[in-house]
Parts: sequence; C-alpha cells; structure tokens
Amino acid sequence: MAWGRSLGLLLVGALLVTLAAGCRRAPAPEPPAAGPADEAPAVPAPKPVYCPLDGLPVEDAVLVNRRPVAVMIDNLTGIGSQSGLDKACWVFEILAEGGITRLMPVYLHQDAPTVGPVRSARHYFLDKALEFGAAYSHCGWSPQAQRDIQRLKVISLNEFYLPQVYWRVRSKKEPHNVYTSTDRLFQELDRRGLLTNYSRSWELEFHDDPSALSGPSAKKITLKYPGGYTVEYVWDAGIVDGGYRRFVGGRPHKDAETGQQLVARNILVQFVDGTRVLDKEGRLDMKLTGQGSGRVFQLGVTYEANWSKGSRTDFTHWTEKNGQTVKLARGQTWVEVMPRGAEVSWE
Ligand SMILES: [Zn+2]
Repeated sequence: MAWGRSLGLLLVGALLVTLAAGCRRAPAPEPPAAGPADEAPAVPAPKPVYCPLDGLPVEDAVLVNRRPVAVMIDNLTGIGSQSGLDKACWVFEILAEGGITRLMPVYLHQDAPTVGPVRSARHYFLDKALEFGAAYSHCGWSPQAQRDIQRLKVISLNEFYLPQVYWRVRSKKEPHNVYTSTDRLFQELDRRGLLTNYSRSWELEFHDDPSALSGPSAKKITLKYPGGYTVEYVWDAGIVDGGYRRFVGGRPHKDAETGQQLVARNILVQFVDGTRVLDKEGRLDMKLTGQGSGRVFQLGVTYEANWSKGSRTDFTHWTEKNGQTVKLARGQTWVEVMPRGAEVSWE
C-alpha cells in the first residue's frame, strides 16, 4: 500500500517535471500533489510594467510605448477652469505674459476625456515638450513659437489646421473655449504614423524605499511668482502614500471635470535666468538650457538640487548636491519654472 502510493507520487512528480520543462504553463496536478510535485519550477508572474514618466504601474504595456503628448493649457480664466490636469504624468508651470502662468500637462499612461482650455504656443514650452520627444498640442502660436516649431521640427498638433481634433464649448468665450481629449491627440499621431515610432532618450529614477528619504520637513510650500501670482502646496499624508494638495491664490485648485483638488507627488522648482519681456505684447523669453539651481519637494521633505540641459532637445537632468540623480516619488510631478530670485518658502 505504502509502496504503491510512493510510486504513484513519483510518477506524478516525473510527469509534472516533464510538462513544466516542455511548455510554459504546467497543468495543475489533480488531486493537489504533495512531495516531489512541489518542486516543479513555478511559472514566473508577468513582469510588472510601469509608466516611465511617473513610475506608476500600468495594465497594458502598449499604453507606455506611445509617444507622449504635451498640451498648452490656459491658466487665466480662474482656478478650477482646467480639465484633465489630474490625468497627466507631469505638469509644467511657466510664466507667460501678464504675470500669469501657462500649464503644460504631459500625457502618457492615463487618458483624459477632456483636456483644456487649449491655448497658443509659447516658444520656451517647446524645450520641455521636445525633451520628452512629446508631440505638442496648441491653438495658434506666438511668432517666436511658430518660428521655433518649424526650426526644431516639433510635432505640432495645432487646432488651426486640425479642427477635427478639437472642439469649442459655447459656455466660454474665445480664446478660452478650445478643448480636446488624449484619445483624439493620440489618434492624430497614429494617423501620421508618429504614435509608436518613438524611442526614449531619457530615463527617470524612482524611489524604491521612500521611507529612506530624509531632509528638512516641508509640509507647506509657498511659491511667489514675480507680479504676485502665488501657488501653495500643502502636504496631506492621508492621500494614498501622501501628496501635496495644490492651492492658487489661497484657494484649492480643482479639476473642472471631477471637482477634485489637484495633488502633486513631486514638485521640482527650477530657477532660470534670462527672464525678460520680448515684445510689445509682453511675451517673455527665458533660458531653459545650460544649468542652474533648484529645489525638490517630495514626501513631505525638501532638498536643494541642480539641473542641467545641454540643448533645447536634451533632457533636463536633475541632481542632488552630492551629484546623485534626483529620484522621484511615484506619481505626478509638477515642475515650477521660476525666475532666479523668486520667493520660495516652506515650513
Ligand atoms: Zn504616467
């Protein structure tokens, strides 16, 4: 009896080993085997895929093999007027004319059904879109941006030539009424054969153990742009893994579609030189290449950093004071480009 059972188990074990060696997925033993069968090699779980921009897990690798899209977004019509910023992997905030910023979300792994209001291109935003190899969605352009889009061969998704990719809402006045969706933008790239013929020239690093991060506490951050426009971020440990709630002018900055307050996981403050008025319209110029100083806020702490960018298409590389590459907390990153000397405080 005992011999018969042992022999049976050996045979089952041998069969399983053979099956496991010969194909990817061995059928489950029946009845559940004990003994030698347990030693059959386990089927490896599929390797998790992460978004290269924000380090978040994604369900389908196809999503992150696409070319990213950047969109020029209005920040003039009042807080809470924008749609889709919450779905971006990165968001750039940079001054435009009139003492107010424009925003440029960069989309890859999440789709946003409504993105807007879409505004006209400014040339220094191209430096940021180009470094990700992103296509750039906009509605019109400044003369400087028009010149540079042609000169630098930017993949331009201009509403002027692509009305089918955008729509206009009646409830808002021009030029604050142009909207699009990431679906439409990615579809247009696909139509041109530019969606997947894309190779990444950049690679970001993420914290494997965020608890190891140390630095002075930064639970409330205040950024004062020249002219008085003020952004604050307030740390909230109660959000999944913690995050910085965004406020503008003292009020929560909410997404128009969801009503939810925007939350940043990383805030990179980039100090730049050369901010000056370019023309009688008050359009600005600034220098986003070369190198400079900055400050990183993540996970409730802050530390000094440096940035460098060789050319307008090169990636902006961020390093800590000790020369190590800045690692990001997984989640949305906001880059606040500020003239050197602008007031940044935290507590
Ligand atoms: Zn992402």
